[in-house]
This record gives sequence, C-alpha cells and structure tokens, in this order.
Amino acid sequence: MEQLDLVRENLIFEEDKQEEACGVFGIYSNDSEFEAAALTYLGLYALQHRGQESAGIVVSDGQHFLVHKNMGLVSNVFNRDIIDGLKGRMAIGHVRYSTTGSSFLANAQPLMARCSKGTLAVAHNGNLVNAEELRKKLEDSGSVFQSTTDTEVIINLIARHSQETLCNAFLKAAEDLQGSYSLVLMSKDTLIGLRDPFGVRPLCLGKLADAYVISSESCVFSSMGGHFIRDINPGEMIVIDKDGIKSYYLTEKRTQATCVFEYIYFARPDSNIDGLNVHLSRKAMGRELAKQFNREADVVIAVPDTGRSAAMGFAEASGIPYDIGLIKNPYMGRTFIQPHQKMRDIGVRIKLNPVEGVLKDKRVVIIDDSIVRGTTSGKIIHLLREAGAKEVHMCISAPPITYPCYYGIDTSVRKELIASAHKVEDIRTFIEADSLTYLTLEGLYRAVQPNKDLCVACFNGDFPIPIPKENHKYSLEEE
Ligand code: AMP
Repeated sequence: MEQLDLVRENLIFEEDKQEEACGVFGIYSNDSEFEAAALTYLGLYALQHRGQESAGIVVSDGQHFLVHKNMGLVSNVFNRDIIDGLKGRMAIGHVRYSTTGSSFLANAQPLMARCSKGTLAVAHNGNLVNAEELRKKLEDSGSVFQSTTDTEVIINLIARHSQETLCNAFLKAAEDLQGSYSLVLMSKDTLIGLRDPFGVRPLCLGKLADAYVISSESCVFSSMGGHFIRDINPGEMIVIDKDGIKSYYLTEKRTQATCVFEYIYFARPDSNIDGLNVHLSRKAMGRELAKQFNREADVVIAVPDTGRSAAMGFAEASGIPYDIGLIKNPYMGRTFIQPHQKMRDIGVRIKLNPVEGVLKDKRVVIIDDSIVRGTTSGKIIHLLREAGAKEVHMCISAPPITYPCYYGIDTSVRKELIASAHKVEDIRTFIEADSLTYLTLEGLYRAVQPNKDLCVACFNGDFPIPIPKENHKYSLEEE
C-alpha cells in the first residue's frame, strides 16, 4: 500500500491519464469548387475527443497541395482565413495525441513527403509494433527521417516501391507493417483509406452529397449533414479517384480484433463501430455490471462524460434511480494548476463539482468506465464524501486493466497500472470506496454482442498481434 500512496501523492489530476488514440479524416470530390478544407475542419471538430495535442489539414486541388497544422485544439489551430486559404476539392486531416514520437510540431500530422509517386500526405491512427525495426532498415538503406512518428516510416516504405502504381506501392508497403493502422493517404488526385488486417482501430466510409468521406468514426457523417455508408473492413483498402470508388484487400488472412476500449471509452457515444452503437454498448455494460452488484443503494451517478451511458444502463437494470451527482465544466482545457496538494484538490473541483443535494446522506453508486492508475477515482470519491455521501460504491464498466496497450493507446507502463500488481480489495482500500466492482470479461463480451472479434489484451494479456521482444519494455519484470 505504501507504493500506492506514493503514486497518489505524486500524480496530479490532469497530467496522469492515459490518452486517446488519434482521429483521421479524408474527403474527396470531383467538383473543383468543392470546399474540402471547411468540411475537414468540421470532421476534425467532431473527432476532437480522439486527440487534442495537434491538428492538421492537407488539401489538394488535383494538382497542388496546401497544408496547415499546429499544436492545439482544432478550433485554435484553424480560423476562417486559414480555412479559406486552403483551396482544394480533396483533403485529409488528423487530430493527434502522441502514441509514438514525442510532442513537437514535426510530429503533427498529416505528414507530407515528395517521392517517386509525387507528393503524398498521410494521416495515421494506431501504432506499429515493428516501427523501430523498419526505421532502422530504411535508415541503413539511406532514408532520412524528419520526425519520430510511425507515419514517416510508412511514407518511406511506399517510396521504395517506385515501379508500382500508387495503390500497389501502398499495398506492398502495408505487407511490412505490423501493428495497428487506420490510415488515410492522399496523392494529388487520389484518396486512399486502409484499415489493418486486425481492424484494431475503427475506420468507416460515408458520403456527403457527391463527396466520399473516410473517417475514424461514424459520428462525423451525421454531424456534417452526410450519411454513413459502411465500416471499412479489416485489411481493406478503399481507393477514391475520378473513376469512383474501388475496394482491395491486403491479405486473405484476416482475424478481426477491434480494440474493445473504443466501445468502453474512446469513441463518441453517437458513433457506430462495426455495426454496434457505442452508447448502447455502454448501456449494456452498465446493465451487466448491475447484475454483479448485490447491495442496496439510493442513487446511481456517473463520472462524466464517459461513465454516463453505463450509469443509465446500471440504473435501468438495478432499479436504483439515476441522477446527476457530478457536473463537469465543459470549457476546461488542461488546467495550469500545479501539483501542490491544496491546489490539486482545487484542480479537481474546477473540473468536476459535486451536486450536494443529490449526494447528501445517500448511499451512492458511482460508475466510471475504467481505472488506470487509480488517482482519479480516489479524488472523486473524496469529493463525494465531502459533499455528504454516506456510502460510495465504485462500479467500473470494464474489467481491471492489467496490461499496457501496444496498438495505439498511450497506456502507462505496466507497473503504473494499478490493477497489474494489486488485488481488487487493495485498490478499493487505495481509492477509499465502500465497495469496488469491476465488470467481468464475460459480462463485457455479453454487452458488446454480437461483436466478439475484439482485442481485450489490456484485460487478459492475449495480444492478437505479436509484440517484438525488444518492445517488451512494459513488463513488470523488465523495468
Ligand atoms: P486514472 O486516474 O489513471 O485511474 O484514470 C482513470 C480515468 O481516466 C477514468 O475516469 C477514465 O474515464 C479515464 N480514462 C481511461 N482511459 C483514458 C485514456 N486513454 N485517456 C484519458 N483518460 C482515460
């Protein structure tokens, strides 16, 4: 427990979280008047939850590229003048939270490069597990890298196949890639989307009037006034050019293993992934969790925002009324508040404030989607008690996270995952809850039915894509 207390003391509320994967977007029209940049801006705005570190758009008018990217939120990186200046009928865009490569502008995407195929722009969501090995091979054969991202490795691999058409060069390059990748790529006149053979990260296809759209998530289409066509299948490459749209497959061997954390936490509730709505899947997780909870309580509340859908399902199945017990300030960016103990508590309150009238003298069930290092839960439970809660029962709509992610989620190294080395009862003591219930893996599978082709490696260590030995840096033993 001493070790746990040390973790609690040394981490601050804002800086200690795992963060999301990235978001990618692409749009293609044959109409030379089409304002691809403005629509990409809207698309990225709807994907902002997938990455807040940097944002970028590359447009093409069929001949020339223009690019704008910077660190920060979509609404800070772009303004009306910048968007108006990005003239083009096709575009790709990216919002990034760093999964590989540290945070500096050279790593902001889309990345652009001139090669035998002309200029290419690429945006990537995911993480290659063999990027280091590929980078080394490419450097040994003369490639020079400007960034530290996997994406530049991909561009260099494409460039090596100079005799091939762009599509074939991309397919050939993808044969060398191991790991997760949902990619959009643009040449001056072609838009390509590719989802890795395991389909780890989502990628889907939609339409807006005559324009085709490729996006990480389906919530984008309706928010732009367009419509969803279908998910891009694992291992499928979609090519859009003046002749229309074509589909190719990377390999016959496809074993779908879509990241279950997309359903649990990452994706927006109004998105559908592989045919399943995210909000409804979270509600089902909450219903399953309620079946495991065998206590009496007066009110069910959620940790906003991601715990909300599961809390509704929990309330529905348990008969315990749902209420709003915590209010989140929707205008928060990162707090500038620094980690003195007192200030830290203020930091929590600025972001989340309890509704005393709902909590006072109540036996409260609080639902969150996950516990990573355990610092958030402890702080929230403290807030609830200060607001007068008589009992606080923490219920988590996912199993304990015991393994790090190698496929694009910036999960902590393994020893920082509280559940990797501590039993549920120890975690309960650490967060000072009256009880702690995690959803079982079986319950999770029931909740995401009929999808069962999922990566659940963060819960059971069963990694569908082999991790090269030199990457085993996350294991407890080797650190
Ligand atoms: P922790 O304090 O490290 O236990 O973080 C748990 C909190 O982080 C929960 O409220 C989750 O909703 C949230 N969370 C889970 N995964 C992520 C992620 N990848 N990025 C940011 N927050 C996350």
